[in-house]
Amino acid sequence: MQYRALGRTGIMVSRLCFGALTISPLQANLSLKEGAAVIRRALECGVNFIDTAELYRTYSYIREALRGFDRDVVICSKCYEYTYQGMKQSVEKALNELGRDYVDIFMLHEQESSLTIKGHWEAYGYLLEAKKKGIIRAAGISTHHVGGVLGAAEFPEIDVIHPLINASGIGIMGGTREDMLAAIRAAAAVGKGIYAMKALGGGHLLDRPEAAFEYIMSIPEIDAVAVGMSSVHEVEYNTLLFSGKEVTPELKTIVGRQVRRLHIDDWCLGCGQCVERCRSGALEMKAGKAKVDEVRCILCSYCAAACPDFCIKVI
Ligand code: SF4
Ligand code: SF4
Repeated sequence: MQYRALGRTGIMVSRLCFGALTISPLQANLSLKEGAAVIRRALECGVNFIDTAELYRTYSYIREALRGFDRDVVICSKCYEYTYQGMKQSVEKALNELGRDYVDIFMLHEQESSLTIKGHWEAYGYLLEAKKKGIIRAAGISTHHVGGVLGAAEFPEIDVIHPLINASGIGIMGGTREDMLAAIRAAAAVGKGIYAMKALGGGHLLDRPEAAFEYIMSIPEIDAVAVGMSSVHEVEYNTLLFSGKEVTPELKTIVGRQVRRLHIDDWCLGCGQCVERCRSGALEMKAGKAKVDEVRCILCSYCAAACPDFCIKVI
């Protein structure tokens, strides 16, 4: 496993980051024991970086996976709060549920531009205070938007950016893959730590993971990449690829079968909340029920979290 300093934060991270969304109740919905075992295998394989969010509901899995583990693990979480108090509660929830007295990195989730960042600045103010007190070590934003990366680069207070980028450009908002790449380069040039998301295009590039990872790893400005993994086999497969080692044909076959898609249950009541929540334009109402456009869907699970009737799952 390779390790890199995340921008100027002084935090060393494995280039493969464990993306915790995939094991969560919003996606594979693994039991606590199963989910913790998948994370633990990643840690044993050299991964020292876990990406999560309040929305994913995975703190208990991480806590369980870290029980008795004797090496440092970097945890990044995020939320979409606007207020100082809301952010304080969100960070405290993370500390309580993770059983830690600090979280390495805390972020504003889903930012779109410098304007949305300014709109959340009161909440970010709490993160700056928490950093001074040692409750967090670095603060940042996550974004699917080119404008989010460019906007974040303008703020000296932002340490880390978690942008969406992949070989085919699936899911990038407000520009092309090349626009996103240029924005990432500009942000890295002013010292931001960059760790990417959706290198596999939310599942669309699962049929060619080697090429997808090769693309993302070839971008020198990207320090690490969060990859969702829901089985021990996927962990072993990804850690081999990231370590430049040969993957056995057996492992390739097992992992190759794990294609993911968005499933909407028949009991959808057609309230439309998921359609409103999807920023990728992948959902629409048809005959009173939500329908997904699988080409546009990047399996981010934001719609699943918004559905009051738990109709949406990534399977
Ligand atoms: S349909 Fe749901 S999972 Fe797919 S991109 Fe939209 S919000 Fe994300
Ligand atoms: S939020 Fe749930 S119930 Fe409402 S339209 Fe979407 S899937 Fe159906």
